[in-house]
Amino acid sequence: MHGQDPQTCIFCRVIAGDIDHDVCVAVSGGFVAFPAKQQRPRNHGHMLLVPAVHVTTLQDLPTDLATGWLTATTALSNAVRSAFHATGVTIRMNLGPPGQDIAHLHTHVIPRHPGDELPTTRSQNVPLADRIAITHRLRPHLDAHRATGDPGALP
Ligand SMILES: [Zn+2]
Repeated sequence: MHGQDPQTCIFCRVIAGDIDHDVCVAVSGGFVAFPAKQQRPRNHGHMLLVPAVHVTTLQDLPTDLATGWLTATTALSNAVRSAFHATGVTIRMNLGPPGQDIAHLHTHVIPRHPGDELPTTRSQNVPLADRIAITHRLRPHLDAHRATGDPGALP
């Protein structure tokens, strides 16, 4: 895995705004989200939910963050469904190699649409400008879910 040192971790650098400026959005409970750099074209809006502090894997997640993880996952999932008009989402976590390629705990939240063929479609690089647009599109939907105090509700 790459980026085990928080000083060089690519996700920590995104969170700090050192790279890919303007893609990060606060979710809740110490978690932030940003669009995946590689996305399947029919699943536009694929987000990564990460603790704002460097944590390598689920076993290392402090208790106070662990209790916020489900709330943050639910709020982001509902915001993704709403913002990208998805009928559902797929949530994935890869813990350790070979699946986890960045050593900063992250949850994939992927919008789903009927017939999108997610398992058989290849990911493509998404330019920074498009990832910033995804974050801007998502932000008001996320704000709406936080404002209602009901992370399970869809607007
Ligand atoms: Zn990190």
